[in-house]
Amino acid sequence: MNEFTYSANEIRALFGSGTRKQLSDEIAFLGACRAMVITSSNSRETIKQIIVELGDLCITHFNGAEMHTPIDVTQKALSLAKEHKIDCLVAIGGGSATGLAKAIALRTDLPQIILPTTYAGSELTPIIGETENGLKSTQSSKKVLAETVIYDTDLTVSLPVMQSVTSAINAMAHAVEALYAEHENPIISAHAEQAIITFYNTLPKICVNPQDITARTDALYACFLSGLCLGSVGMALHHKLCHSLGGGFGLPHAATHCVVLPHVIQFNAHVRPELNQLGNRLHSSSLAFAIFELIRACNGPTSLQEIGMKETDLDTAASLAMSNSYYNPRSATYDDIRELLQNAYSGIAPDACLI
Ligand code: NAD
Repeated sequence: MNEFTYSANEIRALFGSGTRKQLSDEIAFLGACRAMVITSSNSRETIKQIIVELGDLCITHFNGAEMHTPIDVTQKALSLAKEHKIDCLVAIGGGSATGLAKAIALRTDLPQIILPTTYAGSELTPIIGETENGLKSTQSSKKVLAETVIYDTDLTVSLPVMQSVTSAINAMAHAVEALYAEHENPIISAHAEQAIITFYNTLPKICVNPQDITARTDALYACFLSGLCLGSVGMALHHKLCHSLGGGFGLPHAATHCVVLPHVIQFNAHVRPELNQLGNRLHSSSLAFAIFELIRACNGPTSLQEIGMKETDLDTAASLAMSNSYYNPRSATYDDIRELLQNAYSGIAPDACLI
């Protein structure tokens, strides 16, 4: 075994069915009593119930979180938080609600409790991406780490099948990139492999029966592991490409991960053959092909074209991805990125790609 350094973020996590009932206690545990609840605009019945159960602890509710954390939305939520003198943030939702809580915490140091309802995995990472004027910039700061994460399986059951698929592949991407990230280490790699295998086995079950509580529980646990991976060892080419595509061209975040992931794995497997050994454990010739086939079997998106990318924007997208430096185990030229994006645009199977 090679030398390695392992460091972990401090986090308190509750996991299980019905854990949301402990939210009031967790607010008190933080010494807070004036919470602002943050959600995306289409608040669901369960979220309304949680707010009712909070009673006087919920001082205000901002229900306008948006994907890619636009700065103007953050400013509005920040004003509301200041106006109501809130002392804690409670985000209930996917990565968009979590992202907004993080953006406010970055500017105020307010403590956060996150109740994830998708598999995005943002709740465990010190990473925040924000969008302004069509550009998404990402930074890492301990200030945005949540104090408490409440994983309640029941909150994920309503997640529509297609969003479950794309969101799970988004989380799987955190685990995949942990296997070759700059600070990779065997402890996180063990979590990553478990997350990938669990998602691989679980997603088809959720597609058949979205109410399958065992499958939902396994998927949420895999999400937990994936968040730990991204939060501990960071990311590489895949996340960089997805951020450029999402921030620059408004593509849906999780669906973009879904399309791009097999192509980046294929590209990196040339220098990290152990990725394909993991693919063999999934009864496939390569990890790239195993994940591509999984997405196809779950009717998830496999081409950038089908999720709204214009072919005429591919040159700009490749330039955007080249504009910031980032770690990747295989160095990528402009031509490599351009070809990879072309393959992802067309949706060809990764084993048919030449790069
Ligand atoms: P999202 O949070 O935008 O949610 C998508 C839609 O699903 C929303 O309309 C939401 O209301 C709805 N929804 C969420 N949970 C539901 C449920 N259980 N039932 C029914 N509907 C539900 O999407 P997302 O993919 O979770 O998050 C994407 C955002 O997260 C992006 O902005 C991305 O950049 C960010 N992200 C950040 C990190 C990080 O570490 N910083 C990691 C992953 C994703």
